[in-house]
Amino acid sequence: MKILSLGLTGAFDEFRSKLQQDCCALVQEGFRIAIDETNRGSYTFLGCNIAEGELSFRNYERIKNSLKDYASQLLVDVILNNEEKELLRKIVSNNYHFFNEEECNIILSNALKLLSDNSGLFGDFSYQERRTYILNRIQEYLTNHHEMVLDGFVAFRLKDYRGKLAEVVDKAVDEYMMDVEYKEFIQILRYFVEIQEVQVEEVHVIIDSEGQFIIRDSAGKVINHQYLEAFIMKKGEEISFEDMLISALITLAPHYVMVHYRAASGEQLAATIKSVFEGRVIFCHGCELCQDYLTGQFDGRN
Ligand SMILES: [Zn+2]
Repeated sequence: MKILSLGLTGAFDEFRSKLQQDCCALVQEGFRIAIDETNRGSYTFLGCNIAEGELSFRNYERIKNSLKDYASQLLVDVILNNEEKELLRKIVSNNYHFFNEEECNIILSNALKLLSDNSGLFGDFSYQERRTYILNRIQEYLTNHHEMVLDGFVAFRLKDYRGKLAEVVDKAVDEYMMDVEYKEFIQILRYFVEIQEVQVEEVHVIIDSEGQFIIRDSAGKVINHQYLEAFIMKKGEEISFEDMLISALITLAPHYVMVHYRAASGEQLAATIKSVFEGRVIFCHGCELCQDYLTGQFDGRN
């Protein structure tokens, strides 16, 4: 007697052998489950049949529930470990068809990273939460149905889940675009640096723990330039703090830039300076020039 039938595509040998193994637990209760295969179109249906055992109504319900549990656990693994990546890939190519293959692959890997990061960006969508949600949906479905086609189930019964995956892809695309724009911006700045004639031999950029900066000349004197007055700014002000520093440096056109910073908050800024002034940047992680400023004994203006 057939208790359950599951329609799968692709490789199912592993799935079948795991299911068969799970069913062995029923042998000690006097039941042997035989799994058969039927092909219909591109689907293979694995049918679970009671081959041996006394079949009362009570037994039937119990065996059916056990099979439902075994199958649900295996199906949720198939969805999360195999189908999820394919779903993301399809969402990228359907919703963002203007990206080429290489770009799609970058976006896909961004999306996979966002999913595995579990940084709270997508609340209640961690691996464990996705697993619980999908597992409940599968169990609910198998309580009321004897047959399940996995593709159809994912397409029609997991709309919320697929909607969330689409949000993850949107975020991954945003990240990709920001990265592209940042790189283009750096390219333009590099061009400015290249065409600009060197004005001074060296400048020192000192970035404190709050990400504030000051620019000094080779003698350690703060560079007071009419355009630089406005550049001693705090983060969060309307014009990007980073843009201001880079503009100031491009105006000064130094032969080389020495960057002094200690805190992690200075890393992004230091990396940008390094990209723009490629081959002309030296990093200091503590010297006399920056010591007072970095330890807060310096008011930044003398
Ligand atoms: Zn220093």
